[in-house]
Amino acid sequence: MLLILAFGVIAVADAAAADRTVPFWPEAVTDAIHAEVDGLAALRTVRDLGRHHRVHGSPGFAAAAELVRERATTAGLIDAVIERLPADGRTRYAHFRSYLGWDPKEATLDEASPRARRIARFPDLPVALADYSQDADVTAELVDVGRGTAPADYGAKDVRGRLVLASGPLPLVHRRAVEERGAAGFLSDYPNQRTAWSGDDRDLVRWGHLSPYQTKNTFAFMVSPRQSQELRARLAAGEKVVLRARVRARMAPATYDVVTATIPGTDRAGEEVVLTAHLCHQSAGANDNASGSAAILEVARALQSAVARGTLPRPRRTIRFLWVPEIAGSQAWLVRHPETARATVAGIHMDMVGGLLATTRGTFHVSRSAESRPHVVDEIARAWLETVVRASERYAERGGDGYAGLAWPSGSRESFLADLRGVEMGSDHEVFEEASFGVPMVYFHDWPDATIHTNKDLPENLDATKLGRVAYLGAGIAWTLAALPDAEAPRLLAVARAGLGERSARAALRADLAGDTRDAALIRREAAAVAGETLRSLAALWPSAVATVREEEARPRAVSSVPAPAAGSDPRVPVRNPEVRGPLGVYYYDHLSEVLGPDADAETALGRREGGEVLTWEALNLVDGRRSVQEIRDVLTGRYAVVPVAEVAEYLDLLARARVVSWK
Ligand SMILES: [Zn+2]
Repeated sequence: MLLILAFGVIAVADAAAADRTVPFWPEAVTDAIHAEVDGLAALRTVRDLGRHHRVHGSPGFAAAAELVRERATTAGLIDAVIERLPADGRTRYAHFRSYLGWDPKEATLDEASPRARRIARFPDLPVALADYSQDADVTAELVDVGRGTAPADYGAKDVRGRLVLASGPLPLVHRRAVEERGAAGFLSDYPNQRTAWSGDDRDLVRWGHLSPYQTKNTFAFMVSPRQSQELRARLAAGEKVVLRARVRARMAPATYDVVTATIPGTDRAGEEVVLTAHLCHQSAGANDNASGSAAILEVARALQSAVARGTLPRPRRTIRFLWVPEIAGSQAWLVRHPETARATVAGIHMDMVGGLLATTRGTFHVSRSAESRPHVVDEIARAWLETVVRASERYAERGGDGYAGLAWPSGSRESFLADLRGVEMGSDHEVFEEASFGVPMVYFHDWPDATIHTNKDLPENLDATKLGRVAYLGAGIAWTLAALPDAEAPRLLAVARAGLGERSARAALRADLAGDTRDAALIRREAAAVAGETLRSLAALWPSAVATVREEEARPRAVSSVPAPAAGSDPRVPVRNPEVRGPLGVYYYDHLSEVLGPDADAETALGRREGGEVLTWEALNLVDGRRSVQEIRDVLTGRYAVVPVAEVAEYLDLLARARVVSWK
């Protein structure tokens, strides 16, 4: 309830739209999409993908990519192909240096003495073996080193030739224990993402990984909190525990496999709308992210089927579908296809979209595009989301027609618990929306998920109804961007105005509560700019709206001018290094530590703030060779949160040291 109300998933233009489910579409179109979407089909795809252990550059990923390519082809997307982009530790995609792939065959962890028993076997338990582990056959004593990341964790303990048990981040434990102290390998109970349910399930085994850049990796086995606590207790009691670890796995040059397919457009086919999902992660990785992969496949199948059947016309713009190894695949693909990035008007990214609240504890979020890149896709998404929420509520509260309630047989019957919120980091949209590629995206994501990145992210936690609703939502938004006739633009404009009015009202409240009059003026100025940019993006797609949007822009506004900044303003103008395209963090690649060294201090006050990941990403997005540090600060303050100019300067100085920007 709180989530829905807080961000205003509230009826828009109810009166104007009384005759329509979605104000800017005739019922025939919403009906045609609804009739094709099948939540059960999406759930079947989740189960099939979940059988593959889908680590970047691994045979499991390749098999999943082949499965998706084949199903897209079967669905009638005849241009479906797999692009294989080198992942070899040398090939760069702009600044991003690719990393090696991994070919795991088999691994066992046994206790040799005093209690001979099997502890874990890969692939029976796919997460048992940390990614990028390599060949070994070691029988050795186990030593508890706590976190295992600082010299003090080791003290006088001799770990040479032994196995250690550690709870710190795996690549750092490998460095401290194996590379610096000669340990043979280790066991890890590195904790999972923190949620309110953390620690409740002591049998969760986390998916872990060593560094894919470290070619001399030995191995790590992942154990549950229950297993590690038992081992720690025995070691603390003075017991000598000897384990045998056998690993058959190799790191090797491989490829980032990107599956792509399109529904070609007609008269504006040169413009594209994109739907993306990352196909990777551990087996089963049902919600993260077989769910998003299955949902965009269902969008592809449903829209293609409607076009083939003639219940929908061919879209004007091309709709492209991309299944990628998370972030790294998006970066590699976009660097290789700058023309497609330029031709893409907007998109939808789906990452974790099928969880049942009862098991995953997650609610569904639609994040708007970046504040640096406002787009009408945000308001289109809002309109479609409202219809799904309303239909689901009506059905949950009153029963009756499950079809009208967007429920699928064997799926759940609950209300669609969802909200619309600002941009958040965490997946491929970070690459698409980055200033170098500039594709505005809405981001669909369940959060939190108590099972994320563990052995318990399983298909049985997922819901055919939710997957169906999400696929319907994605199909509706994509279809609007690709196919809404120009004649419907006035209705879309009305919907967009209503949504922007609500956003402006919220910005005005923030301004009224801001302590500083200049910051208050900035908040008002930026809200007007966001509204203007959103309406202009609408006019760019639907020419009939151009005149109205221009008129509106020309109308005098009661926005007060912004006073000059007080003393302490920073007039320096940062300029981007053209070789750095895309985000600085590309999955396992961290550009700042690549340039400044692994032990360099890249912490900044801006990054440590609440929402610091977004603020730092946006600070770089706002570097355009014209804005000064002060002006970047002003935009961040107006669109996100009041930040001191010194914090923005500190961050941009760090980027200058790493040669990501230079000073004009
Ligand atoms: Zn994910």
